[in-house]
Order: sequence, then C-alpha cells, then structure tokens
Amino acid sequence: MGLRKISNLKVAVIGAGVAGLATGLLLRQLGCDVTIFEKDKPSKKEGAGIQITSNGQFVLEKLSLGEAVIRGGLMPDKLCLFDEDDLKSIGSLEILNRLKHRYGRSFIALHRSHLIKVLLEKVKAEKIKINFGLEALPLFAEDEQYVSISCNGEKVKKDLIVVADGVSSKWKKIIFNESKERSISQSAYRFVLSKKNLPSVFLKNNVNLFFGRGRHFVTYPTGLDGKINFVFCKREKGYVANGWREKVTKKQFLDDFELDENLEACFSNVKTVYKWPIIESGIPSSVQKKNVVLVGDAALGMLPYMAQGANKALEDSWVLANCIREYPLDLEKALKKYSKKRVKRLQKLDKVSRLNEKIYHLERKMFRWIFFLYLRLIIAFLPSLFFKRLDWIYNYKG
Ligand SMILES: Cc1cc2nc3c(=O)[nH]c(=O)nc-3n(C[C@H](O)[C@H](O)[C@H](O)COP(=O)(O)OP(=O)(O)OC[C@H]3O[C@@H](n4cnc5c(N)ncnc54)[C@H](O)[C@@H]3O)c2cc1C
Repeated sequence: MGLRKISNLKVAVIGAGVAGLATGLLLRQLGCDVTIFEKDKPSKKEGAGIQITSNGQFVLEKLSLGEAVIRGGLMPDKLCLFDEDDLKSIGSLEILNRLKHRYGRSFIALHRSHLIKVLLEKVKAEKIKINFGLEALPLFAEDEQYVSISCNGEKVKKDLIVVADGVSSKWKKIIFNESKERSISQSAYRFVLSKKNLPSVFLKNNVNLFFGRGRHFVTYPTGLDGKINFVFCKREKGYVANGWREKVTKKQFLDDFELDENLEACFSNVKTVYKWPIIESGIPSSVQKKNVVLVGDAALGMLPYMAQGANKALEDSWVLANCIREYPLDLEKALKKYSKKRVKRLQKLDKVSRLNEKIYHLERKMFRWIFFLYLRLIIAFLPSLFFKRLDWIYNYKG
C-alpha cells in the first residue's frame, strides 16, 4: 500500500446498494479504476420508503444527483406525533420550511428503488464496470499483506477493496472477526398501500409517528407513486428477520402487533407484509484492515430510529473519497484517517439511535405521560430546540 497515484488505483466495491454505488461514483470522480460486484440481479422495485436528510443530500449534490433524487420523492410538510393508545395527536411540527431554513435543505421521503435507480444510471453513464449476479468473497490470511477477492472461482487482486455488502456483511465477519450480537433485538414489519380507503390522517404529505408501548410505527408517502409507507417496529426476543425480502402473512403481523380494532380495520387492503431485519452489529473499533474498508451498513448496522441508514452510507462514501483525495500517494494513511473519522461518528450516531429506541418504546404510563408532556411543551414553546439537538447530524459535511 505504498506510493500509488489515485488515477492508477484499482478499486473493487462489494455490493451495489446505496453505499457501494455512491462510493463507486465518488472514487471514479477521483479518477480511480472502479469495478463493482453485486451478488443479485438488478431489480426494479425492491424495498419501500427511505428518508434522505440534509447530510445525505449534501453528498448527492456532490454527485450532481440532488435534483434527480428530489424529483422522485416528496418533501413532507409536517412531523405529526401521536399516542398509539387512543390515536390521539400529541402535536405537530412544520418541517418543510424549518429544515430548509436551518440546514439549507428539507428532507426527502422516497422509495428506495428510486434512489438506487438514480445512482445506477449515473454509474452506467460514467462507464463504471458493474458485475451483477456475482458474489464476491474475501481471500484473507492474517499473515498476508493484501486481501484479495474470490469471485466465480477466480482470484481477483485490487489495491483497495470497499466492502458495502450490507448489514449481514460476510466480509466483516471474516476479516474483522465480527461475531458480537447486541442484546436488544427488534423487528420491523412494513407494507406500502395505495391511498384508497385509508383514513385521512395517513393521506397528508406528513410523516406520522405513533408511540406505542414497547413499539412504534411510522407512516409517510413514498413519493410520486401515490403510495403510503407503513413501518411497524417493536422489541422482540424471538426470531429476527435476516433479509429484505422476507414475507409474512397479514395474520402473523396482526397477531404480533395486536392492533386496536380501528387501526386494524384500516389495513383491510394489506396483502403482502415484509418482515425486515433490524440487526445491530457491535460498534467497530476500526473500519479498515489492510487494503479493505467498510462502508454503509457493513460498517455498522444500527437501530433505524434516526432514519440515518442511507445517510450514514452516503457520508461514508464522501469521507472515504475525501481522505483518498487528501493523501493521493499514501493509501494506508488515507484509509486509517477514514477509519478514525468514521468510527467516532458511528459511535455517536449509534448512541443516539439507541436512546431513541428507549424513548420511542417507553412502556410505563408515568414515563409516557412525562414524555408526551415534554413533547407538547417543546412543540408549543421551543420548536427550534427540537432540531437544535440534531444539528450535528444534519449539518455534517465530512
Ligand atoms: C433489497 C433491499 C431493500 C431495502 N429496502 C429498504 C427500504 O425500503 N427502506 C430502508 O430504510 N432501507 C432499506 N434497505 C436498507 C438500506 O438500503 C440500507 O440500510 C442503507 O441504504 C445502507 O445501504 P448499504 O449499501 O450499506 O447496504 P444495502 O442496501 O443492504 O446493500 C448491500 C448490497 O450488497 C450486496 N451484497 C451483499 N453481499 C455481497 C457479496 N458478497 N458480493 C456482492 N454483493 C453483495 C447486496 O445484494 C446488496 O445489494 C434495503 C436493503 C436492501 C438490500
């Protein structure tokens, strides 16, 4: 990993999710020779809603993709908070203008497939090599200087391997000896519904957050397709889903959530429910080893209660590219700097997501009452305080 000009740098990116595609593009902008490996075939409509906050949009703008992403999404007007017990409103905050004013951008709710499509089109336009249907695995020995790739029975060597293989990263397990699972496990059920027959509360261009006991659910429109995204999250001791395509029956979902009758009636149109993985990995002490770096969920799978999954992935790609730009002749130094910067940030993000889990899922009546009172007071008298504590997240520029 010595003196090597960026323009000669041969890079493999493992995984064509948000992290992999964004990193591939940013490293290509630096002049690197990038090849992306994706184990699945391209798919048009996978996943559901995803949220891009100002810190993520900043990176998309650097890729000249800000407008294209906004075109496929919606910027919600308000954040509306409810007590799930009686579906009573706690209060609502205008966010569209407030966020624009505070961070220069509001946040975008969109279907994940639109974000992937926009990134993928740019990857193709930039003529970055992308191999679909090819699983790439590590060839790793502790005593060897470089890690290589095993792909289709062949050994592939690269100067830099960017691992973006998601929350169940095999690379992380093998190279970084990751085996720790955290004690809290959660499950999330999600479905996307057309607006027909839904109560008006779900139809507005708002993000709705319902706080239940030991659980919560969120709804928002996914963009121009006129659909509404529902995600139900709860603490769980049993089986946690392990992939993004795992279907469960509507009955399984309803039995598990024991929804109030009125709410259950809203979901008569639900046909397919997906159970999602909420896998928390241990907080890494480093996201770099030899010529390998981790980005996105591979670096840290954390609770999604700050809606930072895709944004954290975009941040990773931006910081990695910047570190390489800063040390164009010293890859080792660049990767070490990347690791140091990101581990610090990941630890902070992880902490705040875990805190949100505790707050969102309060079970005792008294604590819930105090929390709701606190929200009511903040919304009525100090709405800017609500966002002030989030400035370090949304203002991040690497
Ligand atoms: C199919 C799918 C649907 C999703 N839907 C949503 C959603 O609707 N809402 C939401 O908030 N989040 C969703 N997520 C998760 C979200 O995309 C991530 O939390 C976030 O964007 C960070 O992305 P990532 O690129 O790190 O990981 P991911 O988006 O998980 O991407 C990882 C990619 O790596 C590929 N891969 C894994 N192992 C290998 C290997 N050995 N070789 C080659 N390729 C490999 C996977 O097939 C995948 O495409 C989804 C993820 C996936 C994979």
